[in-house]
Amino acid sequence: MSGLPARSDVVVVGGGIVGLAIAYELARRGRAVLVLDRGEPAGVATRAAAGMLAPTSEADLSERPLVDLELDSLRRYPEFVADLEQLTAVSCGYRTEGTLWVALNRDQDGDLERLFAMQRAKGLPARRLSAAEALAREPHLSGRIVAGLLAEGDHQIDPRAGCGVRHVPGTRGLRSNVELTCTASPTDSRPPSCSAHWVRCSSWAAA
Ligand SMILES: Cc1cc2nc3c(=O)[nH]c(=O)nc-3n(C[C@H](O)[C@H](O)[C@H](O)COP(=O)(O)OP(=O)(O)OC[C@H]3O[C@@H](n4cnc5c(N)ncnc54)[C@H](O)[C@@H]3O)c2cc1C
Repeated sequence: MSGLPARSDVVVVGGGIVGLAIAYELARRGRAVLVLDRGEPAGVATRAAAGMLAPTSEADLSERPLVDLELDSLRRYPEFVADLEQLTAVSCGYRTEGTLWVALNRDQDGDLERLFAMQRAKGLPARRLSAAEALAREPHLSGRIVAGLLAEGDHQIDPRAGCGVRHVPGTRGLRSNVELTCTASPTDSRPPSCSAHWVRCSSWAAA
């Protein structure tokens, strides 16, 4: 592997949002971090994701402890995003207006009512909307909708434009700490020497 630093405190394998976020936080704490990715950074699941930060919408799928963990994570997002955007001057596309669900028929309306009941039971901020209220929020929706549900607690980022962590390498303040290499696999010969840890964030990898 040519062009890699001879030594790093931490080597992170996988430059998706998880690996990059870990690298970013470690670099903030003064570690020299090398991120290895075999392809384009933030180019796999991170690129495909919708970017929903949606503990309220996913309440029906989640147990209470998981919902609490998700809510705690969400509370930390504004500061995380603000710091990242200040550092990189790249927008994360962070939005806080919630998730709008719509029903096209009475069956779907029943599904929304069940989701709403689950959200209420878990004390999550959500409210039912009439078709007119939903259309007022999103005028491009079909006029056939019969009802809506606003999951007010949900937020969103743009994981493609806004995965600002990918811009951390080379930015002022972290340049000497994070290096991102887009061609190497950790199974290639002669990996760099690492004084602390390898962190594997390439869950879909064969390596
Ligand atoms: C269609 C879709 C929609 C989604 N919507 C949402 C959503 O709205 N909200 C949400 O929270 N989550 C969503 N997710 C889930 C979310 O995308 C993932 O949880 C998240 O992106 C995982 O990030 P990651 O960094 O772990 O993985 P990835 O983004 O896949 O990054 C892994 C990286 O590892 C690299 N890699 C793999 N193998 C190797 C190797 N051997 N050597 C070097 N590098 C390697 C890859 O090239 C890749 O860049 C969605 C997922 C999909 C598929």
